Amino acid sequence: MAAATLMTGWTEARVIWLRDKAKDCGFSLAGVAAADGRTEAEHVDGIRLKEWVDAGFSGEMEYLKRRAADGRLLRSGISVAIPWARSVVVCAMNYFGEGPLSLDTADAGAGWIGRYAWSGRQSETDPSRLCATDYHEVLLGRLRTLEGEIQAVMPCESRCYVDTGPLVERAAAARAGVGWIGKNTTVLNQAEGSWTLLASIITSLPVEASGYALDVADRCGTCTRCLDACPTDALIAPRQMDARRCIAYLTIEKKGPIDEGLREGMGRQVFGCDICQDVCPWNRRGPVAHDSEMLPRRELINPDLEWLAGLTSAEFRAWFKGSPLERTGKKRLHRNVAIAMGNSGEARFRERLQTWADAEDPVLAEAARWALARLDRLAPERL
Ligand code: SF4
Ligand code: SF4
Repeated sequence: MAAATLMTGWTEARVIWLRDKAKDCGFSLAGVAAADGRTEAEHVDGIRLKEWVDAGFSGEMEYLKRRAADGRLLRSGISVAIPWARSVVVCAMNYFGEGPLSLDTADAGAGWIGRYAWSGRQSETDPSRLCATDYHEVLLGRLRTLEGEIQAVMPCESRCYVDTGPLVERAAAARAGVGWIGKNTTVLNQAEGSWTLLASIITSLPVEASGYALDVADRCGTCTRCLDACPTDALIAPRQMDARRCIAYLTIEKKGPIDEGLREGMGRQVFGCDICQDVCPWNRRGPVAHDSEMLPRRELINPDLEWLAGLTSAEFRAWFKGSPLERTGKKRLHRNVAIAMGNSGEARFRERLQTWADAEDPVLAEAARWALARLDRLAPERL
C-alpha cells in the first residue's frame, strides 16, 4: 500500500498492512481490536476484571486496582482512562530462545529463572558477551517504530504501552485475533504457541464495522494439562487464576514472607514460572525465536542456587541491571533462593542457609530457617 495514501480507520486491508509492518518491526503477530467502550466484548472483559479484583485474586498488585473518578477500574475498558481511544493495536513477540524446559531434568541444586528473563544482546564492547535486555525496552522500541509507520499513513492520537497500559492486554489480544486465551490464562496462537510477550498501541482510529473476522477459535478443547501441572493450584478454574498462589507472582511481585503453605510447591523456581506453558501441547510446535535482542544468556539457564546465593550487590547489578530481575532485586531473589534450596533436598546448601538464618533481613532469615527444616525432612540421612 502506498505510504502517501492517508487513511482514517482500520479496514481489513489496513489490518493486513499493519501485520506486515509489525513483522518488519520485529513482532511475530499483530491485530487490531475496537476500543470504544461500547463493544459488548469490552464490557464483558470489564465485568470479569472487576469480579477478579473484587475477589482479591490480584493480591498486592495495586496497579490492577486503580480506579477512575467514577469508581470504574482503570483497566476495565480502554476508554475509561483514555476517552479518545477507538482502537488498540496489539502486537506479540515470540521470545522462545533455545534451551531446556523447566520440567526437563537438571543438575541437582539448579534453580529456574523464567525464560523471558534470560534475554540478552551482544555487548558492543565485548562481542563474546551478552549483556542483559529487558523485554519492556525491546518491545517499546519496536512499538514506537510501528507507531511511526501508522502515523505516516493514518495520522491519529496514539500511545504505546508494554504492561503499563490501562487495559487487559490479553483480552484485547484475543479480540484483535492474535490468539485465544488458553486455560492457563496466556494468549495462545496456533502457529506461535504461547511463548509471546504482548505490547499495545492505543489509537484514536475507529475500527470499520464491516472489516474483518477476529475471533480465534478456542483450541484448548478437553485438555487440562496446565491446570493439572500447576504446583500451587493457582489455576482455580479454566482461564481463572488466583495470582496470590501463582509462583510468578510470589517470586517477582510479592514482598515480605511467602505463605508457608505455598513454599513447597514453588520447587526450584526463583524468578517466574514456566510450568503451565511447558506442558501445553501447542508449545511443542512453536518456533524458536532467533531474536538478536532476546538471546538466551546461558548462565541464567538452570543456574546453580549457590551461585545465585553468593552474588554480592555489585555482582547482582553486573548480571541483572537492565534485566527483568533488576526491579525484583537481590533481597527478594535471595528469599526465593532460600526456599528453592530447602526444596532441593541438597545438604550442601545447609552452610549458606545457616548463615542466612542469622541474617539482618528478617524475611530472608525466616525463609532460611524454613528451608533448613525442609532439608531435615527431605533428606535427614544426608545431613
Ligand atoms: S505460572 Fe506456574 S504457578 Fe502460575 S499458574 Fe502457571 S504453573 Fe501455576
Ligand atoms: S495446556 Fe491444554 S488447556 Fe492448558 S492452555 Fe494449553 S491447550 Fe489449553
